[in-house]
Amino acid sequence: MTLDETIKRTEELAELNENQARVYKEQGDTMGYLSYEECAKEHRRLAEWLIELKAYKDARPTSRWSRQTDTYHDYYECENCGIGVGLDDVRNYCPDCGAKMEEDAECRL
Ligand SMILES: [Zn+2]
Repeated sequence: MTLDETIKRTEELAELNENQARVYKEQGDTMGYLSYEECAKEHRRLAEWLIELKAYKDARPTSRWSRQTDTYHDYYECENCGIGVGLDDVRNYCPDCGAKMEEDAECRL
C-alpha cells in the first residue's frame, strides 16, 4: 500500500465512521454515536498527519551517494550535505539531511 493509497483509505474510514455516528445520533443511541464519532475523529487526525508526512517527503531535496575511498576503507558520501556512511548504512534517503537519493548505477539501493 502506498502513502497516497493509505491517505485515501484513512479518509474513507473517517467518512464511514462519521456516517455511522450520524445514524446512531438520529436513533438517539448516545453510546453508539460517541464511539463512532471518536473513531471518525481519530481517522481524520491520522489522515491529516499522513498528508503532512507526504508534504515533508515531497519537499525534501534529492541527492546521490558518491563512493569515496580513504586510507582505511570505502564509504559513501551524500552529495547534498557531505555526510559519510558505510555501505551497511546506505539507504534511499540521507539520515542527516533527509535528501531522497537518486538511484546510482554504482550503488544499487
Ligand atoms: Zn545528506
